Amino acid sequence: KSIKMKTDTTVFDLIEKEHQRQLKGIELIASENFVSDEVMKAMGSWLTNKYAEGYPGKRYYGGCQVVDEVESLAIERVCKLFGAEYANVQPHSGAQANAAVFLACLKPGDTFMGLNLDHGGHLSHGSAVNTSGILYHAIGYNLNKETGRVDYDEMEKLALEHRPKMIIGGGSAYSREWDYARMREIADKVGAIFMVDMAHPAGLIAAGLLENPVKYAHIVTSTTHKTLRGPRGGIILMGKDFDNPWGLKTPKGEVKKMSQLLNSAVFPGIQGGPLEHVIAAKAVAFNEALQPEFKEWAKQVQKNAKVLADELMKRGFDIVSGGTDNHSMLVDLRSKYPDLTGKVAEKALVAADITVNKNMVPFDSRSAFQTSGIRLGTPAITTRGAKEDLMVLVAELIEKVLNAPEDENVIADVRKQVNEVMAGYPLFAY
Ligand code: PLP
Repeated sequence: KSIKMKTDTTVFDLIEKEHQRQLKGIELIASENFVSDEVMKAMGSWLTNKYAEGYPGKRYYGGCQVVDEVESLAIERVCKLFGAEYANVQPHSGAQANAAVFLACLKPGDTFMGLNLDHGGHLSHGSAVNTSGILYHAIGYNLNKETGRVDYDEMEKLALEHRPKMIIGGGSAYSREWDYARMREIADKVGAIFMVDMAHPAGLIAAGLLENPVKYAHIVTSTTHKTLRGPRGGIILMGKDFDNPWGLKTPKGEVKKMSQLLNSAVFPGIQGGPLEHVIAAKAVAFNEALQPEFKEWAKQVQKNAKVLADELMKRGFDIVSGGTDNHSMLVDLRSKYPDLTGKVAEKALVAADITVNKNMVPFDSRSAFQTSGIRLGTPAITTRGAKEDLMVLVAELIEKVLNAPEDENVIADVRKQVNEVMAGYPLFAY
């Protein structure tokens, strides 16, 4: 007797509703993107049915011969993309990748350093409400107040004072290139492990537009769904596998090579079975990122971000650090609109179908729920085919809404214009 197929209209209607929301709006969330049909297809495939605890060739389940090939391919492709010798493609997310590195490299209570959350860092780099800040002793470094850029001198001073076991570079709302060479020098001075979380700019790094941290850091983590334009997930990389000079041990007390420590920290350390359907989608995305078209797309992402930042500054907006080197920017609303919070700005823009997120700015006097800033990014809008001309219009529309965030007529006018304009941009343009 065959099973009668039922359509869960409740869920599928919601999925279609979200599809329409994505189609109609201008997507400016810096950490989002639109995946290709093939990435999407790999995620919704039969591979979701398979258990595969362990690693290719060393699994705890039978029937893994095909997923072994898939996972090995993902590893091979991502190593080629970033010039890495080692990759783990199993982390379910960026935060999981970071948690695994912490588990491999630190003991509870150990000191490490990361960029403060309100200066652009990520929750998983030492926030008091994340395992990184709960289990380990986090020391935050900051941006320089005048330049809006990472204060490497302060970082060095803090490192010499606190002797951290690990120093983390990378963040979630930092629009400038990192000085990885300087960070490695600081880490070496105090004998610390140097880790970079390149989640945000990974796609621009893959395209060769920004410095590659794999050349400088002991360990690099990333998400795969931001500028890298793959499925939601995480990865861990090393330029070269090495015997660990810090004498780090497995839970059984054995000193092992870094690759073995990292692999066992992911599984069985913090995860069970890998998501092989997502790993297949990662492999598809890595191959897309290896193509010449991806480089052109990434160049346009960077160009669009620069134009958007310049156009906003022309209109009197304050961009932290005075511009951007990557795909993102942090808008400090305080000088142009002293009474406007990031929360109200986000709500007004979202009502006009321009999606952004509120964000704390360095030295913010408002809380993380209110904030004095918004974060903008160009990966998603560029995937839809946006060029510089659309960025000029986006800046104009943002100003129009934020000049009158409570005015429903203005918001309705802008929303209509946004919907009309976006009808000309397909959801996946290339
Ligand atoms: N690392 C950085 C720098 C991020 O910006 C983010 C997410 O925004 C993450 C890690 C976490 O990734 P996920 O949401 O996949 O856990």
